Amino acid sequence: MHRLARVYPYRSRAGCRARSFATSHSRHSAIIHTEHAQSLNESTNALVSFPTKNHNPNPHGPLSNLTVAIKDNICTIHLPTTCSSGMLRHFTSPFDATAVELLKAGGASIIGKANCDEFGMGSLNVNSIHGPVVNPYHSPNEKSIPWAERERRSAGGSSGGSAAAVAAGMCDAALGTDTGGSIRLPASYCGITGLKPSYGLISRWGVVSFADSLDCVGVLGKSVDTVKTVFESISSYDPKDPTAATPHTRERAKASAESLLSTLDADLSDPDLSSLRIGIPQEYFPSELNTTIVTAVRKVLERLSSLGAQLIPVSLPSTPYALSAYYVIASAEASSNLARYDGVQYGTRFPLLPGADKSKPGNVYAHTRSAGFGAEVQKRILLGTYALTADAFDNYFLQAQRVRQRIKTDFDSAFRIPNAQLSNPSPNPDGVDVILHPSAIRTAPRLDSDAVSGLGPYLQDVMAVPASLAGLPTVSVPAGLAADGWPIGVSVVGQWGSDELVMCIGKVIERTSDEDDGPMADAIFGFDDVICGLDAAT
Ligand code: GLN
Repeated sequence: MHRLARVYPYRSRAGCRARSFATSHSRHSAIIHTEHAQSLNESTNALVSFPTKNHNPNPHGPLSNLTVAIKDNICTIHLPTTCSSGMLRHFTSPFDATAVELLKAGGASIIGKANCDEFGMGSLNVNSIHGPVVNPYHSPNEKSIPWAERERRSAGGSSGGSAAAVAAGMCDAALGTDTGGSIRLPASYCGITGLKPSYGLISRWGVVSFADSLDCVGVLGKSVDTVKTVFESISSYDPKDPTAATPHTRERAKASAESLLSTLDADLSDPDLSSLRIGIPQEYFPSELNTTIVTAVRKVLERLSSLGAQLIPVSLPSTPYALSAYYVIASAEASSNLARYDGVQYGTRFPLLPGADKSKPGNVYAHTRSAGFGAEVQKRILLGTYALTADAFDNYFLQAQRVRQRIKTDFDSAFRIPNAQLSNPSPNPDGVDVILHPSAIRTAPRLDSDAVSGLGPYLQDVMAVPASLAGLPTVSVPAGLAADGWPIGVSVVGQWGSDELVMCIGKVIERTSDEDDGPMADAIFGFDDVICGLDAAT
């Protein structure tokens, strides 16, 4: 039986003690945090490796009160980086990724590596050699049911381990990667905050590539403030990443968003949003969208409007083609990136079966790749290789790139902030400052439901991929509960480089939802109570 076929109750008392100790002595060694995380991990399978000693001796940095988990496709020198793949089962990187180096320099305690979909491919964190991640959220209607008997729902993917670790209170924040929604979707399903930054702001040096033109390192956290603190510490120009945004482009983007930011109340104690124009994209509210999600988004919009924000309908006409274009481009890039895992230079070599012809190198490669990669990764490699063949290139790959260009143009003509990446941007003076839409079409699906197989997983990211194709910053923040009692997220998308602006609006949404939805915030973040309650219930 798989070790997660049965979910065990949290080790509640020990967990509670460790938690209160860890929070009240935040500078104590990472080992305390790690023990706490380990005790919670049996129920969620969020983390896949733990440090044996604290490798971060910088107790005075700006992040020294933060515990952070790292997605297992981001390289760390002291812990394995498996990408949840049999291919890298035994791999430990000889260096830290730049983002990890910066976290350590800031004083953060790394509490472990987080489970994920293999090489970041998936939406539900079920494609992993470590097994699926179980969403730690419990809906208010399930309070009296013992943990082991509660329904097991997906934590979302591919950064499901990062999201579950934060939601379960194992750490304050986690690094994830987002190629087409992998931070925003798990954040939404687990009821936490997730930021996919503008493409190129956080270095990809040391991040195992899935689709280079889309991959972004981002942050998941309990609150927008935590996410912002971590983001600010790791968002800097890195000459080792050839796709990093240059200091000049960063400055230009900052200057463009600054005038608007200065008109919004900086400390947000009594926000005045009268200078803010929020776009509501008609294409993001299809008839299939669950009505309770629409109601929650409407509530958020009403609150923002009562603070003075202007709500403006916008159209992003190329949206319906985004998902298909995404899967062609992402798979094509993945097929090329993953070609290096041949069992000779890179990756674990799997011994040939008895009787196989060892004299043919092709057999060695083929066997290693068949045994080392999971089914989803193999599917993407085949699809991507096909899209890049001479026969299919024009109809698939080039066509997808054309769609991608249209999607970028749609966003550029919707925003009034100019795109700092273009030498001659033509912003729309009547445009909007941010765009707001539901983060997902549904709440977290059950791990045993149809939604986790067939086409289901590919549809989950339909709301998220347009911003990925355009490289835009998006923050997903909790926005109440759906009729099934599970969290809903809303996403705020901004022009390239408007990361601070989207987090500022995210924070207003967070604060105003807290006022309205007190019980929901408790349900997610009052984990000490939840954990203690479990003992009595089990
Ligand atoms: N679900 C999407 C995919 O499977 C996105 C994954 C990601 O953002 N890493 O490709």
